[in-house]
Amino acid sequence: MSELLAMPEDWTRALAIVAHPDDMEYGAAAAVARWTGGGREVSYLMVSRGEAGIDTMAPEECAPVRDAEQRASAAVVGVSSVEFLDHRDGVIEAGVALRRDLAAAIRRHRPELIITLNRREYFVPGHWNSADHRAVGESVLDAATDAGNRWIFPELAEDGLEPWGGVRWVALAASPESTHAVDVTDTLEAGIASLLEHRAYISALTDEDPEVYVRRFLTDFAAASGERFGVRYATTFELVNF
Ligand SMILES: [Zn+2]
Repeated sequence: MSELLAMPEDWTRALAIVAHPDDMEYGAAAAVARWTGGGREVSYLMVSRGEAGIDTMAPEECAPVRDAEQRASAAVVGVSSVEFLDHRDGVIEAGVALRRDLAAAIRRHRPELIITLNRREYFVPGHWNSADHRAVGESVLDAATDAGNRWIFPELAEDGLEPWGGVRWVALAASPESTHAVDVTDTLEAGIASLLEHRAYISALTDEDPEVYVRRFLTDFAAASGERFGVRYATTFELVNF
């Protein structure tokens, strides 16, 4: 008997909100490929352009590279809508300003499912999670409710963004407290191809051949999750209900 439940798939629109280009590609993109392949609509919203992510590249040079890599990466898994909020990479702050930006995006996209990245202190014991991931995850959970309340950010309605109370779930990828999973046996290859589009980023990250690195990392992770879920390959999420 599996310890993980199957992710809900009775929805038509999802919005992924993450701190950086590449956050979706470390596991969740294989699930996105399955969902878009099944006719669902998924859009991406990046809170920063990941411009502080490559040590050898100054931010102003890095931002357009990472922007282009993210758009290419999204296209591989059937996502054509990619937006950037331009909060500053590395020092993203949880709080009212970010919640307002996210609530506006949620009202525009009207998703039933929001996907984001692990917001807990650790990915696995001993591996501290980044300040940006923690900040974005917390604000996404708050904004899912803000988006449906006419009186929290009344200026949004004045700009024509009517409340959207239709968010049913926020799914946090790569959480140490995962509750749900998606069978990605048929779409793991698309997930691998999607992460490989972040070529400048990965080349700076490792001396290994990018394809060898990406394939091993994602396959090992998906196989371990698959074993817990009773399939060959899986992606896991911590699901929060609204
Ligand atoms: Zn990140």
